[in-house]
Amino acid sequence: MKYDVIIVGAGLGGLECGYILSRHGRKVCVLERTSQIGGCLQTFRRMGCTFDTGFHYVGALDEGQNLNRLFKYFGLMDLPWKRMDADGFDEVVIGGERFMFVNGREAFADSMARRFPDQRRNLDEYMTLLKGLGDNLFNSFLPRRSEDFYGMSMFANSAYDYMSRTITDPLLLDVLSGTSLKMELHAEKLPLYVFGQINNSFIESAYRLRGGGMQIAAALRRGIESNGGVVMTGAEVTGAVETDGRLTAVRINGGEEQIEADSFISNAHPAATMAWLDGCKSIRNIYRKRICALPNTFGMFTVNIKLKPNTIKYLNRNIYAYRHADLWHQSHASTDSLLISFPPPAADSDYADTVDLLTPMAWDDVAEWFGTKIAHRGGGYEDLKERKAAECLEMAEEHVPGLRAAVDRYFTSTPLTYHDYTLTQNGSSYGIQKDCNNLMYTMLTPKTPVSNLYLTGQNLNLHGILGVSMTSFFTCSELIGMNTLLKDFND
Ligand SMILES: Cc1cc2nc3c(=O)[nH]c(=O)nc-3n(C[C@H](O)[C@H](O)[C@H](O)COP(=O)(O)OP(=O)(O)OC[C@H]3O[C@@H](n4cnc5c(N)ncnc54)[C@H](O)[C@@H]3O)c2cc1C
Repeated sequence: MKYDVIIVGAGLGGLECGYILSRHGRKVCVLERTSQIGGCLQTFRRMGCTFDTGFHYVGALDEGQNLNRLFKYFGLMDLPWKRMDADGFDEVVIGGERFMFVNGREAFADSMARRFPDQRRNLDEYMTLLKGLGDNLFNSFLPRRSEDFYGMSMFANSAYDYMSRTITDPLLLDVLSGTSLKMELHAEKLPLYVFGQINNSFIESAYRLRGGGMQIAAALRRGIESNGGVVMTGAEVTGAVETDGRLTAVRINGGEEQIEADSFISNAHPAATMAWLDGCKSIRNIYRKRICALPNTFGMFTVNIKLKPNTIKYLNRNIYAYRHADLWHQSHASTDSLLISFPPPAADSDYADTVDLLTPMAWDDVAEWFGTKIAHRGGGYEDLKERKAAECLEMAEEHVPGLRAAVDRYFTSTPLTYHDYTLTQNGSSYGIQKDCNNLMYTMLTPKTPVSNLYLTGQNLNLHGILGVSMTSFFTCSELIGMNTLLKDFND
């Protein structure tokens, strides 16, 4: 059987590309190495509860907003989305003081200005920037000339430079940056585009998904299959066949059998892509080395907690807690920042079934166990996880009193776990670190040196559900043309 397009990896990016291309009549085959599709959207079930491994909430899902338009296209708006509290979807706690993030740019600026009255004009300026970014997200779909791409200049600007010049109160600067465990706050590197686009989408509206992120992956799979496409799990691409500068087939699970296609898309981390392209002559060593040497964002330590029944009230907002100020210059070496997130309860109860705690964790902390197998890493690793979980629980208890006593059981994961499930370099949560000073090197385009191989996913443009969804369009436009795609999208 020969396919039109083989897609390597069934993360959000791979599945969305499969959905778009199959909708346009292409015969697609999505190959996923693990037994579950979804990548960072994977969920697991223990003791009757569903736990998310990565995904927790999305922004811009209200009618007409950017993710809403994308998710309508992908048929994802019928999932059981739950709107978070508009008057406080995120709570940032710094130095013992609590700050609420409210929905709507004007309401947001008003609420922050009540606490920081002398920053009113600065807040308005920041909101104008966010509006420009949000309103122009879809312009980035338009032709490739860089002057047409509204956000390009914001990619080349530093988020920290802009924010610290615009917001002159250091505490407000921290507060506005305080929901940013969903990106890596890197003062020298983080592009303003990434910071602004993500913050804007959540300030517009914020939603959780009752029942876990896996439903997104499952719905996309159903869409692909009903369009005649194929999604195979347990199919790790381990080799490729190249003829005259083009790929003709891939091999799976170390075997010799070849699966042929005219074009290929890799949703795997670009460094992991280099591994299965080993021996491919179109990929020069210099390119391979550059891709494999690109730094990645931090990984996360996660504590997924099952609560005793009726002990902790469900909180329809997230808490981002920080022990110290100056968020742009923190090392993540110890447990000083924590995201506390409550998945919506299965029954529409006032009480939470589960709580998730997330904190950044350095790869160096777990690197000595690299190469060991999940559940067989040894006592030292288990001790490390126990210590780290105790630190997270201690910090969480300060914000959710009674939490420790309410824990029934908990499950932990480290960047090593993420690496083993998704093959993301160093278990990085958000993929390749984009560097506003070095865009040429850190912003990969879908094109590769192999003429019929394209990349997709969070490592290219913008990470997160919104960014990956947008990038899927970029990637597919290489195969079916942007005009055709835009017409379909706008219709
Ligand atoms: C802890 C955490 C929390 C997050 N929270 C949020 C959030 O609340 N909101 C939000 O918007 N975003 C969040 N994100 C980010 C978001 O989940 C990701 O940006 C997005 O899901 C990445 O999708 P992807 O398709 O690029 O990659 P991935 O999800 O990494 O998928 C890549 C897939 O490729 C497969 N693969 C790799 N190599 C091969 C191979 N050789 N053969 C076959 N298959 C292969 C992998 O197994 C994997 O399934 C979070 C991420 C993490 C890690």
